[in-house]
Amino acid sequence: MKLFRDIKGQDRAITLLKRAYRNSVITHAYLFLGPPGVGKSLVAKNFIKLINCISVTTDTNPCNQCVICKKIESNSFLDLIHIKPESSKDVIKIDQIREIEEKISYKKFEGKEKIVFIEDIEQMNNSSFNALLKTLEEPPEGTIFILTASNEESIPKTITSRCQTVLFNPLREDIIYSHLIENYSDEDSDKLLLVSKLSQGSMTRAKEWLELNILERRWELFNDLIVISDFKFPKVIARVEKIVSELKGDKFYIIGVLLDSLKTFLRDSYLYSIGLKQQDYLINIDFFSDIERIGSKVKPEIFLKWENRLSKLTLDIQSNVNTETSLNSFFIDFLLEFS
Ligand SMILES: [Zn+2]
Repeated sequence: MKLFRDIKGQDRAITLLKRAYRNSVITHAYLFLGPPGVGKSLVAKNFIKLINCISVTTDTNPCNQCVICKKIESNSFLDLIHIKPESSKDVIKIDQIREIEEKISYKKFEGKEKIVFIEDIEQMNNSSFNALLKTLEEPPEGTIFILTASNEESIPKTITSRCQTVLFNPLREDIIYSHLIENYSDEDSDKLLLVSKLSQGSMTRAKEWLELNILERRWELFNDLIVISDFKFPKVIARVEKIVSELKGDKFYIIGVLLDSLKTFLRDSYLYSIGLKQQDYLINIDFFSDIERIGSKVKPEIFLKWENRLSKLTLDIQSNVNTETSLNSFFIDFLLEFS
């Protein structure tokens, strides 16, 4: 059970919520906004406990001992309605929102406040948003909404304007690094430093790099794409065939992470090309000699162009637009440009 004081890097959000509790000015709807994997759900769980705990500590933490705290911890608290998408590709359905409407019309069972906790609300379709909006517009007495999202642009303004936004930061690299050192003591410290850079502020992402073997896949991809130079066209075709057939074996989510890491390589090379050459600025430190080679011969604007192309490729793959063709033409052009 992680307490507020164990949650690293989100002091601003936690202070705001604790202050609202102490001053009895908790509003009826909060939107926790920040990148994935930075502690939004963990803070929400502690806040839900704080609101309902029977014996809050003098430093404004939930006690974690009382029957209510224990029920919240074990997901058996009757006054908590908790909804999240089933996976990163699923949407929150209108039936799930209708269920909320029905449940909040009942009286409280055991808590001080009824809580509606909805995670990743950007994964709602329009009809779900409209149903949620209706509920937010006429909130029943004694109900507090806590919504989380990582992308503000995909949420209608009508929703955000009815919530108090609580901002969550990407986590600092040193916070992630020390967490990894503590929890993955068998791993090499250089590897953990690299992962803490690649995770770009997300603890969840850092764990995935280590546990889903994405690091090895990145190493293979970068070796195929970046390390080899002086290609002739037939060789490019053969190489791209290899890359695409390997990527096709990866899960959809992992392809996204790999393309994202390629984007960080382009950004590293861009920084190098405009004179920011120290390793502190860079993410892909294990491919430093390639950043050096490519960053010193290619013009800065070329990297920006390729970052845009990569974003477009990612969108195409997400919307299942001819994945294989998109990958093929991207990698052929990429190798011709950078080899
Ligand atoms: Zn308690």
